[in-house]
Amino acid sequence: MDISAPLRLRVDRDALVANWQALDRLSGRAACGAAVKANGYGLGATLVAETLADAGCRDFFVASWAEALALAPLGLSLCVLHGLRQEDMAAAKAGVARPALSTPEQIARWRESGGGACDVMVDTGMNRLGVSVDAVAEGLLDGLEIDTLLSHLACADEDVPMNARQLAAFAGLKGRTTARRMSLANSAGIGLGEDYHFDLTRPGLALYGGVPRPDMAAHLRQVARPEAQILQRRQVPAGETVGYNATWTAPVETQVAIVNLGYADGYRRALSGLGVALLEGESLPVIGRVSMDLTAIDVSARPDLAEGDWLAMDYDLAQASTLSGVSQYELLTGLGQRFGRG
Ligand SMILES: *Cc1c(COP(=O)(O)O)cnc(C)c1O
Repeated sequence: MDISAPLRLRVDRDALVANWQALDRLSGRAACGAAVKANGYGLGATLVAETLADAGCRDFFVASWAEALALAPLGLSLCVLHGLRQEDMAAAKAGVARPALSTPEQIARWRESGGGACDVMVDTGMNRLGVSVDAVAEGLLDGLEIDTLLSHLACADEDVPMNARQLAAFAGLKGRTTARRMSLANSAGIGLGEDYHFDLTRPGLALYGGVPRPDMAAHLRQVARPEAQILQRRQVPAGETVGYNATWTAPVETQVAIVNLGYADGYRRALSGLGVALLEGESLPVIGRVSMDLTAIDVSARPDLAEGDWLAMDYDLAQASTLSGVSQYELLTGLGQRFGRG
């Protein structure tokens, strides 16, 4: 039996493609790839990768080998950003993806297994994953067949001196390895300008409608919209309260729709009393606490709405992030498993 879910995530494929095309243009001469880790930032990795591959995207980045295996049927060029554990060897040797080797141990493991095309992550100051610039200068990568040499920016969404320092450290490795390509910029890094683009950029957030730097907003469109079905419409008399801890009291008699969406679906509790549903340009406010599975909306302005109707939540990421204090990344990747997606 197939039961349709009472909540769905609308993924605007045209907007996704338009965002990739915009980021590709902004990347200048560099190719533009796509970070599709964390299930395509919550939108569905297969849907996203298929859509972008059709649009001409050629390089895809995931975090883990499990994520790479899930995309293997698509036959894409994949890079696993989190390197190569012993446990990953079989998948790597089967050619599912290229590992982004990030420690001397991983490099030794790859060489011992016979090597082949790989990527390498270099740490230029973030102190997260990657081999040191000094180790590369001293020959750690000599003889390795490197497709792409990667590094990652810690603060590309800010204008701080660290960006230029990381850029200089990475640029200093040009010509030092056999790497066919170099790649530094995430979404925000694309906005830092041409010097940061190298041969390949790897945006994630901006593909999905997140705005990493205000100056990029004009190029990007919203991609993800959560929608939920109304389970009950009720009339709340003046003076009565709605929801957990009775945080909202009806100032006047109010028409309330209870929709099938809550923080377990990624519609964050921080949007309590702040979020809105959007209907034909009209904003319908969220009232009271967002519950785990339910949210109350003031629908007094819309007598036509009834049990079974659908409401689309406003999910402009930059705006929702400012309102809720939750990062745009978390607003996307937290979108839950209960949505019908598409
Ligand atoms: C997640 C990630 C990206 C994409 O970053 P966004 O900020 O979402 O554009 C690129 N490179 C690496 C190494 C990452 O971990």
